[in-house]
Amino acid sequence: MMLAYMDRATAAAEPEDAGREPATTAGGCAAAAATDFGGLASAMPAAVVRPASADDVASAIRAAALTPHLTVAARGNGHSVAGQAMAEGGLVLDMRSLAAPSRRAQMQLVVQCPDGGGGRRCFADVPGGALWEEVLHWAVDNHGLAPASWTDYLRLTVGGTLSNGGVSGQSFRYGPQVSNVAELEVVTGDGERRVCSPSSHPDLFFAVLGGLGQFGVITRARIPLHRAPQAVRWTRVVYASIADYTADAEWLVTRPPDAAFDYVEGFAFVNSDDPVNGWPSVPIPGGARFDPSLLPAGAGPVLYCLEVALYQYAHRPDDVDDDDEEDQAAVTVSRMMAPLKHVRGLEFAADVGYVDFLSRVNRVEEEARRNGSWDAPHPWLNLFVSARDIADFDRAVIKGMLADGIDGPMLVYPMLKSKWDPNTSVALPEGEVFYLVALLRFCRSGGPAVDELVAQNGAILRACRANGYDYKAYFPSYRGEADWARHFGAARWRRFVDRKARYDPLAILAPGQKIFPRVP
Ligand code: FAD
Repeated sequence: MMLAYMDRATAAAEPEDAGREPATTAGGCAAAAATDFGGLASAMPAAVVRPASADDVASAIRAAALTPHLTVAARGNGHSVAGQAMAEGGLVLDMRSLAAPSRRAQMQLVVQCPDGGGGRRCFADVPGGALWEEVLHWAVDNHGLAPASWTDYLRLTVGGTLSNGGVSGQSFRYGPQVSNVAELEVVTGDGERRVCSPSSHPDLFFAVLGGLGQFGVITRARIPLHRAPQAVRWTRVVYASIADYTADAEWLVTRPPDAAFDYVEGFAFVNSDDPVNGWPSVPIPGGARFDPSLLPAGAGPVLYCLEVALYQYAHRPDDVDDDDEEDQAAVTVSRMMAPLKHVRGLEFAADVGYVDFLSRVNRVEEEARRNGSWDAPHPWLNLFVSARDIADFDRAVIKGMLADGIDGPMLVYPMLKSKWDPNTSVALPEGEVFYLVALLRFCRSGGPAVDELVAQNGAILRACRANGYDYKAYFPSYRGEADWARHFGAARWRRFVDRKARYDPLAILAPGQKIFPRVP
Protein backbone atom coordinates (compact mmCIF):
# COMPACT_ATOMS: atom_id res chain seq x y z
CA MET A 1 0.00 0.00 0.00
CA MET A 2 2.77 2.40 0.89
CA LEU A 3 4.67 1.55 -2.25
CA ALA A 4 1.56 2.29 -4.23
CA TYR A 5 1.54 5.80 -2.82
CA MET A 6 5.18 6.21 -3.54
CA ASP A 7 4.77 5.18 -7.19
CA ARG A 8 1.78 7.38 -7.72
CA ALA A 9 3.35 10.45 -6.26
CA THR A 10 6.69 9.93 -7.95
CA ALA A 11 4.82 9.99 -11.24
CA ALA A 12 3.06 13.19 -10.22
CA ALA A 13 6.03 15.01 -8.73
CA GLU A 14 7.41 18.22 -10.15
CA PRO A 15 10.79 17.75 -11.84
CA GLU A 16 12.73 19.61 -9.17
CA ASP A 17 11.88 22.05 -6.43
CA ALA A 18 13.72 25.19 -5.49
CA GLY A 19 15.94 24.60 -2.51
CA ARG A 20 15.50 20.84 -2.54
CA GLU A 21 17.87 18.17 -3.70
CA PRO A 22 16.33 15.88 -6.31
CA ALA A 23 15.65 12.41 -4.86
CA THR A 24 14.14 10.34 -7.61
CA THR A 25 14.50 6.74 -6.40
CA ALA A 26 12.69 5.19 -3.44
CA GLY A 27 16.08 4.72 -1.73
CA GLY A 28 17.04 8.30 -2.54
CA CYS A 29 13.75 9.59 -1.06
CA ALA A 30 14.30 7.62 2.14
CA ALA A 31 17.91 8.79 2.44
CA ALA A 32 16.84 12.42 1.96
CA ALA A 33 14.10 12.00 4.58
CA ALA A 34 16.68 10.55 6.99
CA THR A 35 18.54 13.87 7.17
CA ASP A 36 17.70 17.56 7.54
CA PHE A 37 19.22 21.02 7.23
CA GLY A 38 20.83 20.67 10.64
CA GLY A 39 22.87 17.68 9.50
CA LEU A 40 23.24 16.48 13.10
CA ALA A 41 20.43 13.93 13.42
CA SER A 42 19.69 10.95 11.23
CA ALA A 43 16.77 8.49 11.29
CA MET A 44 15.91 6.18 8.42
CA PRO A 45 12.16 5.84 7.73
CA ALA A 46 10.53 2.60 6.60
CA ALA A 47 9.05 4.44 3.62
CA VAL A 48 8.48 7.87 2.18
CA VAL A 49 4.90 8.55 1.19
CA ARG A 50 4.31 11.18 -1.44
CA PRO A 51 0.66 12.11 -0.97
CA ALA A 52 -1.25 13.72 -3.80
CA SER A 53 -4.18 14.80 -1.62
CA ALA A 54 -5.43 15.14 1.96
CA ASP A 55 -7.17 11.80 1.49
CA ASP A 56 -3.78 10.18 0.80
CA VAL A 57 -2.48 11.71 4.04
CA ALA A 58 -5.50 10.30 5.89
CA SER A 59 -5.00 6.84 4.36
CA ALA A 60 -1.34 6.77 5.38
CA ILE A 61 -2.17 7.73 8.96
CA ARG A 62 -4.98 5.16 9.14
CA ALA A 63 -2.65 2.48 7.80
CA ALA A 64 -0.08 3.35 10.47
CA ALA A 65 -2.80 3.19 13.15
CA LEU A 66 -3.52 -0.42 12.20
CA THR A 67 0.00 -1.41 13.24
CA PRO A 68 1.33 -1.42 16.80
CA HIS A 69 4.43 0.61 16.01
CA LEU A 70 4.34 2.76 12.86
CA THR A 71 4.63 6.53 13.25
CA VAL A 72 4.07 9.27 10.66
CA ALA A 73 6.07 12.47 10.21
CA ALA A 74 5.05 15.26 7.88
CA ARG A 75 8.17 16.62 6.26
CA GLY A 76 7.93 20.13 4.84
CA ASN A 77 11.21 21.16 3.25
CA GLY A 78 13.33 19.40 5.87
CA HIS A 79 14.73 22.67 7.24
CA SER A 80 14.60 21.57 10.85
CA VAL A 81 17.94 21.24 12.62
CA ALA A 82 17.37 18.40 15.11
CA GLY A 83 15.47 15.66 13.26
CA GLN A 84 12.02 17.10 14.05
CA ALA A 85 10.60 15.98 10.67
CA MET A 86 12.03 12.45 10.82
CA ALA A 87 10.37 9.11 11.64
CA GLU A 88 12.77 6.31 12.54
CA GLY A 89 11.31 3.14 11.02
CA GLY A 90 8.07 5.01 10.32
CA LEU A 91 6.43 6.82 7.43
CA VAL A 92 7.59 10.21 6.24
CA LEU A 93 4.98 12.22 4.33
CA ASP A 94 6.73 14.32 1.71
CA MET A 95 4.45 17.35 1.93
CA ARG A 96 6.08 18.95 -1.10
CA SER A 97 4.24 16.34 -3.17
CA LEU A 98 0.87 17.51 -1.94
CA ALA A 99 -0.96 19.21 -4.76
CA ALA A 100 1.83 18.57 -7.27
CA PRO A 101 2.31 18.78 -10.27
CA SER A 102 1.52 22.47 -10.05
CA ARG A 103 1.26 23.90 -6.57
CA ARG A 104 0.65 27.37 -7.99
CA ALA A 105 -2.41 26.04 -9.80
CA GLN A 106 -3.63 24.65 -6.47
CA MET A 107 -3.55 28.05 -4.80
CA GLN A 108 -6.87 29.82 -4.78
CA LEU A 109 -7.98 33.35 -4.10
CA VAL A 110 -10.91 33.42 -1.69
CA VAL A 111 -12.85 36.68 -1.41
CA GLN A 112 -15.26 37.23 1.47
CA CYS A 113 -17.59 40.15 2.13
CA PRO A 114 -18.35 39.63 5.86
CA ASP A 115 -21.31 42.05 6.00
CA GLY A 116 -22.54 41.30 2.52
CA GLY A 117 -21.49 44.79 1.46
CA GLY A 118 -18.10 46.53 1.21
CA GLY A 119 -15.14 45.52 3.38
CA ARG A 120 -13.93 42.83 0.99
CA ARG A 121 -11.40 40.48 2.59
CA CYS A 122 -9.07 38.36 0.49
CA PHE A 123 -7.37 35.10 1.40
CA ALA A 124 -5.07 32.58 -0.23
CA ASP A 125 -5.97 28.91 0.09
CA VAL A 126 -2.63 27.13 -0.18
CA PRO A 127 -1.43 23.52 0.19
CA GLY A 128 0.40 22.75 3.44
CA GLY A 129 3.46 21.76 1.42
CA ALA A 130 3.70 25.03 -0.53
CA LEU A 131 6.82 27.12 0.04
CA TRP A 132 6.24 30.67 1.26
CA GLU A 133 8.23 31.73 -1.79
CA GLU A 134 5.61 30.10 -4.01
CA VAL A 135 2.82 31.83 -2.10
CA LEU A 136 4.57 35.19 -2.47
CA HIS A 137 5.05 34.93 -6.23
CA TRP A 138 1.56 33.59 -6.85
CA ALA A 139 -0.14 36.29 -4.74
CA VAL A 140 1.89 39.24 -6.03
CA ASP A 141 2.02 38.22 -9.70
CA ASN A 142 -1.62 37.21 -10.03
CA HIS A 143 -3.41 39.49 -7.62
CA GLY A 144 -1.11 42.31 -6.44
CA LEU A 145 -1.68 40.96 -2.92
CA ALA A 146 0.55 39.41 -0.24
CA PRO A 147 0.44 37.92 3.28
CA ALA A 148 1.50 40.34 6.02
CA SER A 149 3.82 38.07 8.02
CA TRP A 150 6.90 36.29 6.75
CA THR A 151 10.00 34.40 7.73
CA ASP A 152 13.40 35.77 6.70
CA TYR A 153 13.92 32.84 4.36
CA LEU A 154 11.02 31.79 2.16
CA ARG A 155 11.98 28.27 1.07
CA LEU A 156 10.16 26.91 4.09
CA THR A 157 6.75 25.29 3.87
CA VAL A 158 3.50 26.79 5.07
CA GLY A 159 2.77 23.70 7.21
CA GLY A 160 6.32 23.66 8.62
CA THR A 161 6.39 27.27 9.85
CA LEU A 162 2.77 27.17 11.10
CA SER A 163 3.76 24.16 13.21
CA ASN A 164 6.36 26.36 14.92
CA GLY A 165 5.54 30.06 14.82
CA GLY A 166 7.01 31.76 11.77
CA VAL A 167 8.75 34.99 12.73
CA SER A 168 10.59 37.81 11.02
CA GLY A 169 10.89 41.59 11.23
CA GLN A 170 7.15 41.98 10.52
CA SER A 171 6.13 40.00 13.65
CA PHE A 172 6.16 42.95 16.06
CA ARG A 173 3.55 44.74 13.97
CA TYR A 174 1.54 42.14 12.06
CA GLY A 175 2.07 39.18 14.42
CA PRO A 176 3.91 35.93 13.64
CA GLN A 177 2.63 33.64 10.88
CA VAL A 178 0.57 31.66 13.41
CA SER A 179 -1.40 34.87 14.05
CA ASN A 180 -2.06 35.26 10.32
CA VAL A 181 -4.18 32.22 9.49
CA ALA A 182 -7.96 32.20 9.02
CA GLU A 183 -8.61 28.48 8.53
CA LEU A 184 -6.80 25.16 8.34
CA GLU A 185 -7.56 21.79 6.82
CA VAL A 186 -5.93 19.21 9.06
CA VAL A 187 -5.70 15.42 9.12
CA THR A 188 -5.60 14.41 12.78
CA GLY A 189 -3.89 11.37 14.30
CA ASP A 190 -7.08 9.31 13.95
CA GLY A 191 -6.95 9.78 10.18
CA GLU A 192 -9.90 12.21 10.07
CA ARG A 193 -9.81 15.25 7.77
CA ARG A 194 -11.15 18.32 9.57
CA VAL A 195 -11.54 21.98 8.66
CA CYS A 196 -11.00 24.29 11.62
CA SER A 197 -10.81 28.02 12.30
CA PRO A 198 -11.14 30.39 15.28
CA SER A 199 -14.92 29.84 15.10
CA SER A 200 -15.17 26.20 14.00
CA HIS A 201 -13.30 23.56 16.05
CA PRO A 202 -11.19 26.36 17.59
CA ASP A 203 -9.41 24.02 20.02
CA LEU A 204 -7.98 21.98 17.13
CA PHE A 205 -7.15 25.13 15.16
CA PHE A 206 -5.13 26.66 17.99
CA ALA A 207 -3.60 23.33 19.01
CA VAL A 208 -2.12 22.83 15.53
CA LEU A 209 -0.68 26.37 15.34
CA GLY A 210 2.76 26.07 16.88
CA GLY A 211 1.85 22.46 17.71
CA LEU A 212 5.15 20.95 16.50
CA GLY A 213 3.19 18.61 14.20
CA GLN A 214 1.72 16.76 17.22
CA PHE A 215 -1.99 17.12 16.59
CA GLY A 216 -2.52 16.93 12.85
CA VAL A 217 -1.01 17.29 9.42
CA ILE A 218 -1.81 20.65 7.83
CA THR A 219 -2.95 19.92 4.29
CA ARG A 220 -4.33 23.38 3.48
CA ALA A 221 -4.11 26.83 5.07
CA ARG A 222 -6.16 29.96 4.44
CA ILE A 223 -3.88 33.00 4.73
CA PRO A 224 -5.22 36.59 4.82
CA LEU A 225 -3.92 38.76 1.98
CA HIS A 226 -3.36 42.51 1.82
CA ARG A 227 -2.35 44.97 -0.85
CA ALA A 228 1.25 44.20 -1.78
CA PRO A 229 3.73 47.04 -1.38
CA GLN A 230 5.58 48.09 -4.51
CA ALA A 231 8.95 48.84 -2.94
CA VAL A 232 10.77 48.94 0.36
CA ARG A 233 13.08 51.53 1.90
CA TRP A 234 15.58 49.24 3.64
CA THR A 235 17.92 50.77 6.24
CA ARG A 236 20.59 49.56 8.65
CA VAL A 237 22.24 51.56 11.42
CA VAL A 238 24.94 50.61 13.91
CA TYR A 239 25.18 50.78 17.71
CA ALA A 240 28.15 50.37 20.00
CA SER A 241 26.03 49.90 23.13
CA ILE A 242 23.45 47.19 23.86
CA ALA A 243 21.52 49.65 26.06
CA ASP A 244 21.09 52.15 23.21
CA TYR A 245 20.32 49.36 20.76
CA THR A 246 17.59 47.73 22.83
CA ALA A 247 16.10 51.07 23.94
CA ASP A 248 15.71 52.15 20.31
CA ALA A 249 14.53 48.74 19.07
CA GLU A 250 11.90 48.54 21.81
CA TRP A 251 10.79 52.12 21.15
CA LEU A 252 10.35 51.30 17.46
CA VAL A 253 8.29 48.15 18.03
CA THR A 254 5.92 49.94 20.41
CA ARG A 255 5.16 52.94 18.13
CA PRO A 256 1.53 53.36 17.04
CA PRO A 257 0.84 51.89 13.56
CA ASP A 258 0.78 55.27 11.80
CA ALA A 259 4.30 56.03 13.08
CA ALA A 260 5.77 52.52 12.86
CA PHE A 261 8.05 50.79 10.41
CA ASP A 262 6.73 47.67 8.69
CA TYR A 263 9.74 45.63 9.66
CA VAL A 264 12.25 45.83 12.54
CA GLU A 265 15.09 43.34 12.97
CA GLY A 266 18.69 43.45 14.07
CA PHE A 267 21.78 41.47 14.86
CA ALA A 268 24.97 41.46 16.89
CA PHE A 269 28.29 41.42 15.02
CA VAL A 270 31.96 41.45 15.79
CA ASN A 271 33.91 44.68 15.98
CA SER A 272 36.55 43.60 13.45
CA ASP A 273 37.15 43.33 9.73
CA ASP A 274 36.29 39.60 9.71
CA PRO A 275 34.43 39.15 6.39
CA VAL A 276 31.70 36.90 7.85
CA ASN A 277 31.33 38.02 11.47
CA GLY A 278 32.50 41.62 11.36
CA TRP A 279 31.97 45.01 9.71
CA PRO A 280 31.55 43.65 6.16
CA SER A 281 28.37 41.81 7.28
CA VAL A 282 26.57 45.13 7.79
CA PRO A 283 26.30 47.06 4.48
CA ILE A 284 23.27 46.07 2.39
CA PRO A 285 23.53 45.52 -1.36
CA GLY A 286 23.85 48.95 -2.89
CA GLY A 287 24.73 50.44 0.50
CA ALA A 288 27.93 52.24 1.44
CA ARG A 289 31.24 50.88 2.82
CA PHE A 290 31.55 50.38 6.60
CA ASP A 291 33.93 53.01 7.93
CA PRO A 292 35.18 51.82 11.36
CA SER A 293 36.79 55.20 12.10
CA LEU A 294 33.27 56.45 12.83
CA LEU A 295 32.90 54.10 15.80
CA PRO A 296 33.16 55.80 19.20
CA ALA A 297 36.42 55.38 21.09
CA GLY A 298 36.01 52.56 23.58
CA ALA A 299 33.52 50.55 21.48
CA GLY A 300 33.59 46.98 22.75
CA PRO A 301 34.21 43.68 20.94
CA VAL A 302 30.55 43.33 19.90
CA LEU A 303 28.45 45.84 17.97
CA TYR A 304 24.77 45.85 17.01
CA CYS A 305 22.99 46.54 13.76
CA LEU A 306 19.35 47.65 13.73
CA GLU A 307 17.54 46.93 10.48
CA VAL A 308 14.25 48.60 9.54
CA ALA A 309 12.06 48.70 6.46
CA LEU A 310 9.24 50.95 5.37
CA TYR A 311 6.90 49.74 2.65
CA GLN A 312 5.98 51.95 -0.26
CA TYR A 313 2.72 51.54 -2.14
CA ALA A 314 1.98 52.50 -5.73
CA HIS A 315 -0.49 55.35 -5.48
CA ARG A 316 1.38 58.13 -7.18
CA PRO A 317 -0.10 60.39 -9.84
CA ASP A 318 1.35 59.87 -13.33
CA ASP A 319 3.58 62.94 -13.17
CA VAL A 320 5.56 61.64 -10.15
CA ASP A 321 8.49 59.46 -11.16
CA ASP A 322 10.30 56.66 -9.29
CA ASP A 323 13.12 58.91 -8.13
CA ASP A 324 10.69 61.37 -6.53
CA GLU A 325 8.96 58.53 -4.69
CA GLU A 326 12.28 57.17 -3.43
CA ASP A 327 13.33 60.64 -2.26
CA GLN A 328 10.04 60.97 -0.42
CA ALA A 329 10.55 57.57 1.28
CA ALA A 330 14.09 58.53 2.27
CA VAL A 331 12.84 61.75 3.87
CA THR A 332 10.11 59.90 5.76
CA VAL A 333 12.55 57.29 7.05
CA SER A 334 15.09 59.94 8.11
CA ARG A 335 12.35 61.71 10.08
CA MET A 336 11.27 58.44 11.75
CA MET A 337 14.86 57.63 12.65
CA ALA A 338 15.89 61.06 13.84
CA PRO A 339 15.36 60.30 17.56
CA LEU A 340 17.49 57.14 17.44
CA LYS A 341 20.85 56.98 19.22
CA HIS A 342 22.84 55.02 16.63
CA VAL A 343 26.39 55.87 15.58
CA ARG A 344 26.07 58.80 13.19
CA GLY A 345 27.58 58.12 9.77
CA LEU A 346 27.18 54.36 9.98
CA GLU A 347 23.89 54.29 8.08
CA PHE A 348 23.19 52.08 5.10
CA ALA A 349 20.08 52.40 2.98
CA ALA A 350 18.67 51.19 -0.33
CA ASP A 351 15.35 51.17 -2.16
CA VAL A 352 14.51 47.67 -3.33
CA GLY A 353 11.48 45.93 -4.80
CA TYR A 354 9.15 44.25 -2.30
CA VAL A 355 9.72 40.74 -3.69
CA ASP A 356 13.49 41.31 -3.79
CA PHE A 357 13.43 42.44 -0.17
CA LEU A 358 11.53 39.34 0.96
CA SER A 359 13.84 37.14 -1.12
CA ARG A 360 17.03 38.63 0.34
CA VAL A 361 18.19 35.41 2.03
CA ASN A 362 18.29 33.63 -1.35
CA ARG A 363 21.55 35.48 -1.98
CA VAL A 364 22.94 34.08 1.27
CA GLU A 365 21.84 30.59 0.21
CA GLU A 366 23.52 30.93 -3.18
CA GLU A 367 26.80 31.99 -1.57
CA ALA A 368 26.59 29.25 1.09
CA ARG A 369 25.92 26.63 -1.58
CA ARG A 370 28.95 27.92 -3.48
CA ASN A 371 31.28 27.74 -0.49
CA GLY A 372 29.90 24.43 0.79
CA SER A 373 28.54 25.71 4.11
CA TRP A 374 24.90 25.11 3.07
CA ASP A 375 25.51 21.37 3.05
CA ALA A 376 27.65 21.33 6.21
CA PRO A 377 26.00 20.81 9.62
CA HIS A 378 24.05 23.70 11.19
CA PRO A 379 24.10 23.54 15.00
CA TRP A 380 21.61 26.39 15.31
CA LEU A 381 20.12 27.65 18.54
CA ASN A 382 16.97 29.79 18.55
CA LEU A 383 15.66 31.36 21.74
CA PHE A 384 13.02 33.85 22.81
CA VAL A 385 14.55 35.93 25.61
CA SER A 386 12.48 38.38 27.63
CA ALA A 387 13.42 42.08 27.34
CA ARG A 388 13.95 41.98 31.11
CA ASP A 389 16.98 39.72 30.66
CA ILE A 390 18.36 40.67 27.27
CA ALA A 391 21.12 42.96 28.62
CA ASP A 392 22.25 40.25 31.04
CA PHE A 393 22.05 37.64 28.26
CA ASP A 394 24.17 39.90 26.08
CA ARG A 395 26.81 40.21 28.79
CA ALA A 396 26.89 36.53 29.77
CA VAL A 397 26.36 34.89 26.37
CA ILE A 398 26.95 37.20 23.41
CA LYS A 399 29.91 39.10 24.84
CA GLY A 400 30.83 36.33 27.28
CA MET A 401 30.80 33.29 24.98
CA LEU A 402 30.32 34.44 21.40
CA ALA A 403 32.43 37.59 21.16
CA ASP A 404 34.38 36.15 18.20
CA GLY A 405 31.17 35.50 16.25
CA ILE A 406 29.56 32.27 15.13
CA ASP A 407 30.37 32.27 11.39
CA GLY A 408 26.79 33.28 10.67
CA PRO A 409 24.16 35.78 11.78
CA MET A 410 23.42 36.38 15.48
CA LEU A 411 19.92 37.81 15.20
CA VAL A 412 18.68 39.80 18.20
CA TYR A 413 15.42 41.66 17.73
CA PRO A 414 12.25 42.34 19.74
CA MET A 415 8.62 41.39 19.25
CA LEU A 416 5.45 41.70 21.29
CA LYS A 417 3.69 38.90 23.13
CA SER A 418 0.30 40.58 22.64
CA LYS A 419 0.57 39.79 18.91
CA TRP A 420 0.49 36.05 19.70
CA ASP A 421 -2.75 34.28 20.54
CA PRO A 422 -2.33 32.52 23.91
CA ASN A 423 -4.55 29.67 22.67
CA THR A 424 -1.91 28.46 20.20
CA SER A 425 0.56 25.80 21.31
CA VAL A 426 3.59 28.13 21.14
CA ALA A 427 5.47 28.60 24.43
CA LEU A 428 6.67 32.17 25.02
CA PRO A 429 8.49 34.03 27.81
CA GLU A 430 6.39 35.90 30.40
CA GLY A 431 7.25 39.48 29.47
CA GLU A 432 5.31 41.49 26.86
CA VAL A 433 8.50 42.41 24.95
CA PHE A 434 10.83 39.55 24.11
CA TYR A 435 13.73 39.08 21.72
CA LEU A 436 14.37 36.45 19.13
CA VAL A 437 17.98 35.38 19.62
CA ALA A 438 18.91 33.24 16.64
CA LEU A 439 22.43 31.81 16.55
CA LEU A 440 22.59 30.74 12.91
CA ARG A 441 25.93 29.00 12.77
CA PHE A 442 27.43 28.05 9.42
CA CYS A 443 30.34 25.61 9.77
CA ARG A 444 33.39 26.47 7.73
CA SER A 445 36.36 24.27 7.03
CA GLY A 446 39.09 24.93 9.56
CA GLY A 447 36.52 26.31 12.03
CA PRO A 448 35.58 24.80 15.39
CA ALA A 449 34.42 21.16 15.44
CA VAL A 450 30.67 20.66 15.26
CA ASP A 451 30.70 18.87 18.63
CA GLU A 452 32.22 21.95 20.24
CA LEU A 453 29.45 24.13 18.82
CA VAL A 454 26.76 21.73 20.01
CA ALA A 455 28.39 21.72 23.44
CA GLN A 456 28.44 25.51 23.42
CA ASN A 457 24.70 25.57 22.66
CA GLY A 458 24.22 23.33 25.70
CA ALA A 459 26.31 25.69 27.81
CA ILE A 460 24.20 28.66 26.66
CA LEU A 461 20.99 26.87 27.67
CA ARG A 462 22.50 25.99 31.03
CA ALA A 463 23.53 29.61 31.55
CA CYS A 464 19.98 30.75 30.76
CA ARG A 465 18.59 28.36 33.35
CA ALA A 466 21.26 29.04 35.98
CA ASN A 467 20.75 32.81 35.65
CA GLY A 468 16.99 32.45 35.90
CA TYR A 469 16.29 34.15 32.58
CA ASP A 470 12.71 34.41 31.37
CA TYR A 471 13.25 32.55 28.07
CA LYS A 472 11.90 29.77 25.84
CA ALA A 473 13.56 27.72 23.15
CA TYR A 474 12.14 28.39 19.68
CA PHE A 475 12.31 25.11 17.67
CA PRO A 476 12.78 23.28 20.99
CA SER A 477 14.58 19.97 21.00
CA TYR A 478 14.35 17.87 24.16
CA ARG A 479 14.52 14.17 24.87
CA GLY A 480 12.51 13.58 28.01
CA GLU A 481 9.02 14.38 29.20
CA ALA A 482 10.36 16.37 32.16
CA ASP A 483 12.18 18.76 29.80
CA TRP A 484 9.07 19.21 27.66
CA ALA A 485 6.93 19.83 30.74
CA ARG A 486 9.38 22.50 31.89
CA HIS A 487 9.44 24.02 28.40
CA PHE A 488 5.67 24.50 28.35
CA GLY A 489 5.13 25.22 32.06
CA ALA A 490 2.62 23.28 34.15
CA ALA A 491 -0.69 24.61 32.80
CA ARG A 492 0.28 24.67 29.12
CA TRP A 493 1.88 21.24 29.39
CA ARG A 494 -1.40 19.84 30.78
CA ARG A 495 -3.25 21.40 27.86
CA PHE A 496 -0.67 20.03 25.40
CA VAL A 497 -1.05 16.51 26.83
CA ASP A 498 -4.87 16.76 26.78
CA ARG A 499 -4.83 17.92 23.18
CA LYS A 500 -2.53 15.05 22.25
CA ALA A 501 -4.94 12.55 23.82
CA ARG A 502 -7.82 14.16 21.90
CA TYR A 503 -6.29 14.47 18.44
CA ASP A 504 -3.56 11.83 18.25
CA PRO A 505 -4.32 9.28 20.99
CA LEU A 506 -1.89 6.66 19.62
CA ALA A 507 0.92 9.26 19.36
CA ILE A 508 1.45 8.49 15.69
CA LEU A 509 2.38 12.00 14.53
CA ALA A 510 5.72 13.84 14.46
CA PRO A 511 7.83 11.30 16.41
CA GLY A 512 10.99 13.28 15.56
CA GLN A 513 10.02 15.86 18.19
CA LYS A 514 10.58 13.11 20.81
CA ILE A 515 7.68 14.22 23.02
CA PHE A 516 5.33 11.23 23.22
CA PRO A 517 6.20 7.55 22.69
CA ARG A 518 3.98 5.65 20.21
CA VAL A 519 1.13 3.86 21.97
CA PRO A 520 1.15 0.20 20.74
P1 FAD B 1 10.23 20.73 8.45
O1 FAD B 1 11.55 20.98 9.01
O2 FAD B 1 10.13 19.76 7.35
O3 FAD B 1 9.20 20.30 9.62
C1 FAD B 1 9.22 20.96 10.87
C2 FAD B 1 8.22 20.33 11.83
O4 FAD B 1 6.91 20.60 11.37
C3 FAD B 1 8.32 18.80 11.91
O5 FAD B 1 7.95 18.38 13.20
C4 FAD B 1 7.30 18.33 10.91
O6 FAD B 1 6.82 17.04 11.22
C5 FAD B 1 6.22 19.40 11.05
N1 FAD B 1 5.51 19.63 9.80
C6 FAD B 1 6.02 19.92 8.60
N2 FAD B 1 5.02 20.11 7.71
C7 FAD B 1 3.88 19.94 8.38
C8 FAD B 1 2.51 19.98 8.04
N3 FAD B 1 2.11 20.26 6.79
N4 FAD B 1 1.59 19.74 8.99
C9 FAD B 1 1.96 19.46 10.26
N5 FAD B 1 3.23 19.38 10.64
C10 FAD B 1 4.18 19.64 9.72
N6 FAD B 1 11.90 30.22 11.07
C11 FAD B 1 11.31 31.39 11.39
O7 FAD B 1 10.34 31.42 12.14
N7 FAD B 1 11.79 32.57 10.87
C12 FAD B 1 12.83 32.62 10.00
O8 FAD B 1 13.20 33.68 9.56
C13 FAD B 1 13.45 31.39 9.65
N8 FAD B 1 14.49 31.37 8.78
C14 FAD B 1 15.07 30.18 8.45
C15 FAD B 1 16.14 30.18 7.55
C16 FAD B 1 16.74 28.99 7.19
C17 FAD B 1 17.87 29.01 6.20
C18 FAD B 1 16.29 27.77 7.77
C19 FAD B 1 16.95 26.49 7.43
C20 FAD B 1 15.26 27.76 8.68
C21 FAD B 1 14.64 28.97 9.02
N9 FAD B 1 13.57 29.01 9.92
C22 FAD B 1 12.96 30.20 10.22
C23 FAD B 1 13.15 27.79 10.59
C24 FAD B 1 11.94 27.15 9.95
O9 FAD B 1 10.78 27.89 10.26
C25 FAD B 1 11.79 25.73 10.47
O10 FAD B 1 12.85 24.98 9.98
C26 FAD B 1 10.47 25.12 10.15
O11 FAD B 1 10.51 23.82 10.66
C27 FAD B 1 10.06 25.10 8.68
O12 FAD B 1 10.82 24.27 7.89
P2 FAD B 1 10.16 23.18 6.94
O13 FAD B 1 8.99 23.72 6.21
O14 FAD B 1 11.27 22.63 6.14
O15 FAD B 1 9.59 22.12 8.00
